Amino acid sequence: MVDDFLSKEITLLEGIGLDKAQLLKEELGIHTFKDLLEYYPFRYEDKKTLFTVSTIASAPASTGIPLQGYIRNVQKIGRGKKRLTACFQDSTGQLELVWFQNFSWIIKKIKPNILYRVWGKPSFLPSGLIQLIHPEISLATDNPFDCLSPVYHTTEKLKKKQLGTIGIADLQKKILSQLGDSVVETLPFNLINQYQLISLKLALKHIHFPSNQQILWQAQRRLKFEELFYIQLKLLKIKQVRVEKQNSRSFGDLSLFHNFYNNYLSFNLTSDQKKVIRDIYRDLCSGKQMNRLLQGDVGSGKTIVAFLASLVVVNNQAQVAIMAPTEVLAKQHYKRFYVYAKQLDLPVALLTGSTKKKEREHIIYQLKVGLLPIIVGTHALLSNDVLFKELGFFIIDEQHRFGVAQRAGLLAKNQVYAPHILIMTATPIPRTLAMSFYGDLAISTIYTLPEGRRPIKTQHYYEHLRLKVFKFLKEQLVSGRQVYIVYPLIEASATLDYHNLLTGYENIVSAFPDISVGMVHGKMDSTSREVEMDRFERNETAILVTTTVIEVGVHIPNATVMVVENADRFGLAQLHQLRGRVGRGDMQGYCILMTNYNLTKIGKARIDTMVKTSNGFEIAELDLKLRGPGDLMGLQQSGDLNLKIADLTKDTSILEAARQSAKKIIKEDSNFHNPDNLPIYRAYNRLMALSGSWSMIG
Ligand code: ADP
Ligand code: MG
Repeated sequence: MVDDFLSKEITLLEGIGLDKAQLLKEELGIHTFKDLLEYYPFRYEDKKTLFTVSTIASAPASTGIPLQGYIRNVQKIGRGKKRLTACFQDSTGQLELVWFQNFSWIIKKIKPNILYRVWGKPSFLPSGLIQLIHPEISLATDNPFDCLSPVYHTTEKLKKKQLGTIGIADLQKKILSQLGDSVVETLPFNLINQYQLISLKLALKHIHFPSNQQILWQAQRRLKFEELFYIQLKLLKIKQVRVEKQNSRSFGDLSLFHNFYNNYLSFNLTSDQKKVIRDIYRDLCSGKQMNRLLQGDVGSGKTIVAFLASLVVVNNQAQVAIMAPTEVLAKQHYKRFYVYAKQLDLPVALLTGSTKKKEREHIIYQLKVGLLPIIVGTHALLSNDVLFKELGFFIIDEQHRFGVAQRAGLLAKNQVYAPHILIMTATPIPRTLAMSFYGDLAISTIYTLPEGRRPIKTQHYYEHLRLKVFKFLKEQLVSGRQVYIVYPLIEASATLDYHNLLTGYENIVSAFPDISVGMVHGKMDSTSREVEMDRFERNETAILVTTTVIEVGVHIPNATVMVVENADRFGLAQLHQLRGRVGRGDMQGYCILMTNYNLTKIGKARIDTMVKTSNGFEIAELDLKLRGPGDLMGLQQSGDLNLKIADLTKDTSILEAARQSAKKIIKEDSNFHNPDNLPIYRAYNRLMALSGSWSMIG
């Protein structure tokens, strides 16, 4: 009964017709009163920052610069009277307001001697005229904001329907004034007390219309805590359900593992590698499904760990699948598994989208009858007709393209028990993210690289030193080494990038006339790409001009130099991945970052970071700071982490507190039956009803 008000359709709000409701749905995903109320401002404007016509030129280049004054001389002009202009005037001067459409309401509404507040982004015309195009307008006296004015993200379409910042604020005000007792507290009293939080109702009021900075902080803190608390609770609960329910097979026989370990392993494992293998082995013997994330920087030696773990499963007559995100990477994994497994006479096969039909049929048959213990592949492995006799272990490399939802699909591959899952990533995940996003996974980390690795020397060169760079490349080539030259390829301007790549290739060919140069890029079909990769791998080409298709996993120890062109256009994580392609053998590796002079601040920060450190975890933390978690590793698109208010880069201490609290509650009252936890019981069930079958996954 209490929830009825907030779950009302947005059309039931006074002033919202069907068309506005439709737009709110399409543009902002707002369906109900609750959705609207949880559409928080993304920033606030202080009254004191009012600008005047004379100071507007010094205003920051944001969209909503507020001015206060009179609006006169409203008139339609131009051919067909398609444009509306008006003169805005304050004590310091005047400027022009312009509308191109939907202005009948302005003609009706605006009166000459009334003080208005307008918000807009100024254009400064050469004539000296200042214009505000499609400004937002409110009465100055009726300014809905006591102190801080909310600013909401909005869109052109919404603005045309008077749902700009002011319009949205008006709606919020309407809902807030009708709230009454319909906001049900979602946190138990002891948590509110412990962390000195304000009530949900108060927080909702002040998040939209804070009367001062202090109360705004309190509102934000409360809502962030709640948001993070429920994410943690959900993840911990999933983990618990899995531990309780997902049975898997226990693999005990270690003789094959020992055989390989004692007779064929050509190096000593690092202590981190040993620890990870123990972690995995413990899971494999537990009888419960393993869901483990293995993170370790490029070159830290995850592959051998995966192989050793596979042996335990194979030894016990179950099968192992290893899935990589690209063909190139799948092939690399295949080769290494093949070489390792051959020593034990274990067959391994490769299955990708380009596997020939006949071979594919053969592989599928072998998997089904159990003749093939290890299969490496791409997403092709997930195809419905790929069935196993007994899939016991599924290894996923580079997980960030593979979310929680997809993991669920794997369960269908074994009807009897849930296969153990190991996810490997070379993109170290900052602790805060790992905690929020992978809270349902156990995490193992390889922190240190095998001994004797030389750190890659990274340098930044501006364009004018290109000849010097070429001279260095020549020296390396003469001494028998190979070189990667990487060009950016970014969807938005793919054609332009492609031209850059081709031009770059021609330049390289003419700069190094007696060197064989190869090229790979995403527009090539996979066969020719493979041919080129193979040639480079066999050292038939000494320079490889490429786009980021080279990014993951490629392992060619003789390639010691990587030149990254327009390096500022790459993300940090990507640069770090790229750099991991060199320095994979005994020889010193070099990474050369080329840029133009006109670097953005963030671009420069990324380059500096790369030059300064080679620690993947440090880089990941900085990446998170520079980009924000939304961008990081495409997490936003995965939809699993849709934060309304918390910011994982900044709210670490709130996250920590929320996680501790969630842990404690799961431990003491995991079904929320304690009367004190009634608010959690209600909120959690509502949450689960909304997110569907998420909880079954993992
Ligand atoms: P990752 O997959 O983590 O990037 P790899 O498994 O490809 O790293 O390992 C990189 C290289 O280091 C491989 O040639 C591998 O054989 C080697 N390697 C792995 N572990 C060790 C170790 N403990 N000592 C020496 N070399 C190792
Ligand atoms: Mg690897």
